[in-house]
Order: sequence, then structure tokens, then C-alpha cells
Amino acid sequence: RQLQYLSLRDKPSVTKDGQPVTLMINAGLPVDLPHLAETGAAGIGLFRTELQFMVAAQFPRTSEQLSLYRNVLDAAGGRPVVFRTLDIGGDKVLPYMRNYEEENPALGWRAIRLGLDRPGLLRSQVRAMLRAAAGRELRIMFPMVATVQEFDDAKGLVERELTHLRRHGHRLPERVEVGTMMEVPSLLFQLDELFDRVDFLSVGSNDLLQFMFAADRGNARVANRFDPLSVPVLRALRLIVERGRAHGKPVTLCGELASKPIGALALIAIGFRSFSVLPSSVGPVKAMLLDLDAGKAERLVSGLMGLPLGTASIRAKLTAFAEDE
Ligand code: PEP
Ligand code: MG
Repeated sequence: RQLQYLSLRDKPSVTKDGQPVTLMINAGLPVDLPHLAETGAAGIGLFRTELQFMVAAQFPRTSEQLSLYRNVLDAAGGRPVVFRTLDIGGDKVLPYMRNYEEENPALGWRAIRLGLDRPGLLRSQVRAMLRAAAGRELRIMFPMVATVQEFDDAKGLVERELTHLRRHGHRLPERVEVGTMMEVPSLLFQLDELFDRVDFLSVGSNDLLQFMFAADRGNARVANRFDPLSVPVLRALRLIVERGRAHGKPVTLCGELASKPIGALALIAIGFRSFSVLPSSVGPVKAMLLDLDAGKAERLVSGLMGLPLGTASIRAKLTAFAEDE
């Protein structure tokens, strides 16, 4: 199988009916970088910066962060890299950070909330990113944003760092794009305001599904109770793609949903044309889409989504369709 996927590496990522689909990989540590060349991915759609912090014995210095980010950009060789700022708290704990007890850590003081409340940490990280990308393109993304105000505040911090570096004579990135993760359902009701502000958006389906269904993503008892390949989820996701398209802003999905071929199929059917997946999923997802008639999938899924909600899961129908293709 792996050999078969290797033969797909240099094939353009286009559906049978001619729809290009961008496939990028998720990464977070130097060991992930060779996957770029191995998979032929179009870039790194999600670089989880917290991993460097999680494997360290203490807070990595700005210079250590800078050196990692520079290596990542070098390895990408001009392909886009989306650096996500620290997503800690919740299930991602730093042993050396004073941990205070929370009743509901997934809903607690985490990710961008912590970043905005402890701006020293976020600032040092943003500064490392801006300096690592001197003379190149930089993409920064914030995790767990729940309101447009949080995005504005975080973007304001990036702008102040840019001003600071400029004033001190540092070479700046050629271009800086600032985007957000879409992981909190509250954003579904602020999509137009959000798309007015962001340069791009990436759906974090792992957290978005956890919060949509109020089902802990790490709790086996409930994690499989709700099917992501279901009408309510696909309606929400379709709304995001549609509003993104209306605003001319790129939308990607970087949660595990796209890492399974059947998930990617459903997502293409509702309009997604860009994914960031596990490196080991690039081959299987690409094999699926090379064989896919996206127009046909789109007609099937819009038909299924019009059915009464009693048939909420459409997995069986999608699987039958995929087997026929
Ligand atoms: C997600 O929530 O879907 C996501 C990609 O972020 P993480 O898995 O790191 O929480
Ligand atoms: Mg997440």
C-alpha cells in the first residue's frame, strides 16, 4: 500500500472531474519535516507549536522557538506553513507551568484565552515567528478563538510586534497573513464579521465536534456516540465554506475528519477544496480523490442533506457511493 501511495506523490491532486484539492500536512516537531518531501504535500496546514513546549523541561526561549520556526520554513522551501500559536491548557498540559485545577479543562483557561491573559508568552512566540520569517511569507493562526474580539486582540498583538521589530531595524517578513482556527461553535454565528477580519480560516473539527455535541473528544464512552458524517455537522461545515467563498477567504479543514478518506469525500461534496491531514493520510486521501467525481458526490450529499433529520448519519450511503466509484 505504501508503495502504491508513493507512486501518487507527484501526481496533481485533482478529482476525476477536474476539481483541484490542496493537500497539506499537520506537523509540530522536527521529526515531522521529512514527511513534506515523502508525501509531496502542498505545505504544512497546521504547525502545532505547543509540541515544542510539551517536550521541553522548561519554557523554550524565544531564540529556541525562532530556530525551530526557521528550520520549518527552510524545510518547506517556499510552500506555505501555518504556524498555530500555543494551544495549551485543556488536555495539553506543560509540566513546568503552574497548573491550577479546573472543573472543566476543555472549557477552561486555554489556548488564545491564556495567550491574551499572559501576553508575554504570546508576544515572545509571535516575535520568534516574525523574525524566523524575515524576507519570507508568514502565516499565523490562533487556536480556540470564540469571539471576533479575541481575534482582533490577538491580531493587534501581532501588529504591535511588527511595529516593534521595524523600529529596531529588524528585517521583516515579506508578507504576514493572520487567520483563525474555527473550533468553537459561537463563531458559526459571527461568520461574516469573522471573514471580514481574517486572512484565512482553518476548521479544527476535533474540537468543533467536541463542542457541537458536548462530547469529550478523549472520552471513549461518548466520543463515538455522534457521527460527524451527519446532517447537522455537514450543514454547519457547509455554511463555513459558503461564507468563506462569499468573502473570498481561503478555508481549510485541519481536524482528523479530513484524514479519513470517507470524511474527505463528504467534505469535498459540501465544497471544501483544501485539507491539512496526518502525513500518513495524504496517500489514502489522494487515492480517494483521484477517483472521485466531485460533482456526483455533491449531488448525492445535497440530496441526503435535504432528507428529514431522522436519517442524521449519512455514513452508510457515503460508503456505498465510495464503493461504487
Ligand atoms: C482540532 O481541534 O481539530 C485541531 C486540529 O486542533 P487540535 O487537534 O490540536 O486540538
Ligand atoms: Mg483543537
